[in-house]
Amino acid sequence: MFHTFIVKYGEIGIKGKNRYLFEEALVKRIRQALHGTDGDFDVTWEQGRIYVERSGSFDYDETIQALQKVFGIVGISPVKVVEENSLPQISEEVVRFLQDTYKVHDQSFKIVTRRAKKSYPIPSMEVSSEIGGKVLEAFPDMHVDVHTPQLEIHVEIRDQVYIYSETIPGPGGMPVGTNGSAMLLLSGGIDSPVAGYMIAKRGVKIDAVYFHAPPYTSERAKQKVVDLAAQVAVYAGDIRLHVVNFTDIQLAIYEKCPHDELTIIMRRYMMRIAEHFAVEDGDKALVTGESIGQVASQTIQSLAVTNAVCTLPVFRPLIAFDKQDIIDISLKIGTYETSILPFEDCCTIFVAKHPVTKPVLHVIERSEEKLNDVIGDFVKKAVETAELIEVKASGR
Ligand code: ATP
Ligand code: MG
Repeated sequence: MFHTFIVKYGEIGIKGKNRYLFEEALVKRIRQALHGTDGDFDVTWEQGRIYVERSGSFDYDETIQALQKVFGIVGISPVKVVEENSLPQISEEVVRFLQDTYKVHDQSFKIVTRRAKKSYPIPSMEVSSEIGGKVLEAFPDMHVDVHTPQLEIHVEIRDQVYIYSETIPGPGGMPVGTNGSAMLLLSGGIDSPVAGYMIAKRGVKIDAVYFHAPPYTSERAKQKVVDLAAQVAVYAGDIRLHVVNFTDIQLAIYEKCPHDELTIIMRRYMMRIAEHFAVEDGDKALVTGESIGQVASQTIQSLAVTNAVCTLPVFRPLIAFDKQDIIDISLKIGTYETSILPFEDCCTIFVAKHPVTKPVLHVIERSEEKLNDVIGDFVKKAVETAELIEVKASGR
């Protein structure tokens, strides 16, 4: 019965003259998400509403699931479309709609009519009360409640008539691309994919950078990160993933710097290189999966010392999250199973037994001076040899 969906969106409605851009971005993301399904659709957009109509075969559940991953959508209403728009015909169709949609018919309800076609000769209130009367005749146990009805039955009169009563929740947030772009430091862990998801939810397009250390880290560890990027891309849209060979830098740090400072110095080089690619890609911020106190490199002192090398703002959406809260989101968005695969990550190989937890900036800077002979060349080489992988949102 349902071949058409009305897409409702929230926050973008309040954006004044930017509204057009927001709607355009949302429509683009909807088309992209639906392209990843087996169905064929027309997506149209008029008078502050977005309509998704099947143009060929489609699967209902798959369509809903795809739309539920498009940020900016607050609700999805499956619609019954009726060709005939005479009032008796509409009433009859509403009754049939209730018959087909619900098992029981004892709810309180109200009819909400909207005349998108202003030339329709009968005022909305009259249409509603006429249809309401017919519903009461057909289902004597139902009753009208205009304030807190159990069912809000919507009748939208266009060239055709759209009837719907359910709104399936969407993910909320804002359409990706409406709030600029940022560079995500994406590792194979649980946290950074969640951080990327959260920033994308605010409408920010994501680019990503991953540091690996072959041969100390394997091809499978890299593939895991590519897979995670693809899973985030389902929500965030296409992701440009820069894969940086970090081995020389890491070995140099290991050789020349105090071992209790390895992680913090490594993190600083990651940030520097990430910022390089961010600037190149036009990103206005960096994003990490850090959370206060989670590990030695994420104490407030460590975060401050890491932050000191960055000029761009660093967004840390998980900063105040407990691990379990992060895990819950990763389960919800489908990255958890991949994140816990046991492949080595470039940080776990060179970790110190007792890393500093309260690094002091000038001490760390002094340690880094020991790298002066080689680090410029190594960073340059790492940047030049980085591989770019275009991760597609739909996987097709
Ligand atoms: P995650 O689960 O995201 O790996 P983590 O708890 O393992 O996080 P760290 O290893 O300290 O934390 O890393 C903190 C953040 O630094 C990560 O969330 C990520 O944003 C970034 N990061 C760490 N390692 C890498 C890497 N190899 N490539 C890219 N970014 C990284
Ligand atoms: Mg990690």
